[in-house]
Amino acid sequence: MHDLIIVGAGPAGITAAIYAARMKLKTLVLTKNIGGQAAWSGGIGNYTGFQYITGLELAGKFEEHMRGFDLELREGVEVECVERDGEHFSVKTKDGQYTSKAVILASGRMPRQLNAKGEEGYKNHGVSYCATCDGPLFQGKDVVVVGGGNSALDAAVQLLNIANRIYLVNNTDHIIGDQLMIETLKSSPKVEIRNKTELREIFGDNFVRGVRLLTDKSKEETLPVEGVFVEIGSLPAKEPACKAKTNEYGEIVVNGRCETDIPGLFAAGDVTSVPEKQIIVACGQGCIASLSAFKYVSRKMFKVDLMTGQKGQVYRCSVCGNVVELVYVGGGTLVCCGKTMELLMEKSEDQGQEKHVPVIEKTASGYRVNVGSVPHPMEDKHYIAFIELVGDGRVYRQYLKPADKPVAEFTISASDVTAREYCNLHGLWRSK
Ligand SMILES: Cc1cc2nc3c(=O)[nH]c(=O)nc-3n(C[C@H](O)[C@H](O)[C@H](O)COP(=O)(O)OP(=O)(O)OC[C@H]3O[C@@H](n4cnc5c(N)ncnc54)[C@H](O)[C@@H]3O)c2cc1C
Repeated sequence: MHDLIIVGAGPAGITAAIYAARMKLKTLVLTKNIGGQAAWSGGIGNYTGFQYITGLELAGKFEEHMRGFDLELREGVEVECVERDGEHFSVKTKDGQYTSKAVILASGRMPRQLNAKGEEGYKNHGVSYCATCDGPLFQGKDVVVVGGGNSALDAAVQLLNIANRIYLVNNTDHIIGDQLMIETLKSSPKVEIRNKTELREIFGDNFVRGVRLLTDKSKEETLPVEGVFVEIGSLPAKEPACKAKTNEYGEIVVNGRCETDIPGLFAAGDVTSVPEKQIIVACGQGCIASLSAFKYVSRKMFKVDLMTGQKGQVYRCSVCGNVVELVYVGGGTLVCCGKTMELLMEKSEDQGQEKHVPVIEKTASGYRVNVGSVPHPMEDKHYIAFIELVGDGRVYRQYLKPADKPVAEFTISASDVTAREYCNLHGLWRSK
């Protein structure tokens, strides 16, 4: 069982994976390819830190960064469906099934199809949806680029140094997009822009040999070309989300924490309802989704050492659902969700009783933690007050304080940012 499964390794999925691995979550990345759409861009000039970098180079840097971490990566895997199965998730692929405590969907977008006659049959035989990937195969050939926005302009610019002739076919009355790219294309003798023109049919033998166009809804024309690049936008690859809520555009609806409507299922990047589809936004969302997933997973597995109670006993907070397990017994108490909200011992069948156990209390000056103390191992009559925060079978952090008598109170200052952040991350402190 993995803590986290990430679907997709584009900018969003890769960033989520880096964050998850740094937080020591047992992470599995399942993806069809690495880099996603970022690898398709000919040139990127709007990713902070790089004045200019090709999409392939940036995707390569993302991949190298991710591979530096201890995580499991399976490439060439298509996820068919992610479903919540009780407390866990089952992630189905064509070849098998995986389970995890949380899932991040970062499956991005897929190119839209033209639905022209012949398109389906000539896929990978002259019809392409990615100029960066397939452009070099069309060295010295005549090609058509279909579309009138930035994707089409980007594809045509990339093909300038490769193809012999480029027809930019667009069904509206003018192309819209980056002015610099428009000027580059308009000034090239290789490029012919056909506005108000529809591509009706793609024909050929084993390979594309030409297209039939219809201009102004009346003028038919046949162009002898050997390549067709379909660049008419994209649709969210939401298929793996199965039951998660989507908006009218088919995008997975997320809130500011990248949570979907299914607890434990997060989504990031172009597949979501986030308004801007950009690499930097996808990376940012990957980060948020990963931190949210970490919080979610940690809350479920977190254990706190106590000095009272029964070792191994599991408690669940009746307010936030935080689960704690006693791994050390010897005195002290636990509180969750503030003074009035206490942890309730879960009713077990043989015990059948509830017990209120106070743990961590928020005060005006900081956080008061009720703990116990143990005799100092070296010095007689001295004690060490402590709390140990234990998760997943190991101590994450220990707060120690010398004391000259057994203490029942331990204060972590509000300025102790690390301690605060840590406990906030684990959902230990929550205001009412
Ligand atoms: C031609 C082009 C040029 C662009 N230029 C720029 C630019 O200059 N600057 C900029 O900021 N943005 C640009 N973008 C947009 C940018 O690439 C995207 O916003 C960004 O890549 C989105 O990242 P993502 O991780 O959300 O999704 P994607 O990059 O789409 O990655 C999705 C990942 O999920 C995988 N996947 C999908 N479905 C499944 C499945 N069922 N199972 C397993 N894996 C799956 C894919 O293989 C892929 O690895 C461009 C896009 C295009 C198409």
